[in-house]
Amino acid sequence: MRRKIVAGNWKMNNDLSETEALLNDLIAQVSNTHVSVMVAPAYVNLFQAFTVLKGHDIEVVAQNMHQEANGAYTGEISAQMLKSVGVKTVILGHSERRAYFGETDELLAKKVNTALANDMEIVFCFGEELEDRKAGNHFSLVKSQLSNALFHLNTEDWKGIVLAYEPVWAIGTGETASPEQAQEMHAFIRKTVSEKFGSEVGNEVSILYGGSVKPANAAEIFAKEDVDGGLIGGAALKAADFVAIINAL
Ligand code: PEP
Repeated sequence: MRRKIVAGNWKMNNDLSETEALLNDLIAQVSNTHVSVMVAPAYVNLFQAFTVLKGHDIEVVAQNMHQEANGAYTGEISAQMLKSVGVKTVILGHSERRAYFGETDELLAKKVNTALANDMEIVFCFGEELEDRKAGNHFSLVKSQLSNALFHLNTEDWKGIVLAYEPVWAIGTGETASPEQAQEMHAFIRKTVSEKFGSEVGNEVSILYGGSVKPANAAEIFAKEDVDGGLIGGAALKAADFVAIINAL
């Protein structure tokens, strides 16, 4: 049985008191036990998030991480720093990191290596732009994102990888891939991973969908065979919406 996951990416939202309030609302409302629930607050609130969530089954994860161990990288955060406050999982390759901060597949391959070398789990994001889909390049683009950042890994490494397919045209836009479009791409991703690493790896890896998932559309997307959960942006900022999405899985 593949692990089912709903992860909330809070992006650059919620100061300290808002973080505490949202986490307390989640503590009060999350009851589903078969879903691994993750939340990704801003770096500065990670430590307090662990304090608030102590004893509760909601994992605190990071939104990003630098690839180097330490040094003169002003404003950056290392794997060791994240681990020292309790973080075990990091989101890498989010489309906003790629678009606004110039993160390339090659850079992401380095970040992946650093996270794995630090025994951290990775939620690896990728997905095509609207032009790629319109041009019919979406499958080859997704395959190249996967191969450039992840195909140098070995079979064992995949125990630490969760994939998050996020078509860029659906992130924060209100546009959602149809359940059929999501399933078609997730099945392609699973096949691509299986061809390279074997069917055991392909069948075991959890593949999340991300892109304007809301309480109203979560159940039909999650019902698809190769969709193992969601990476949620906007709807993760309201406890009731996030919990409704968790309960739809
Ligand atoms: C995201 O940022 O990963 C995301 C899927 O955002 P939204 O749910 O707001 O589209």
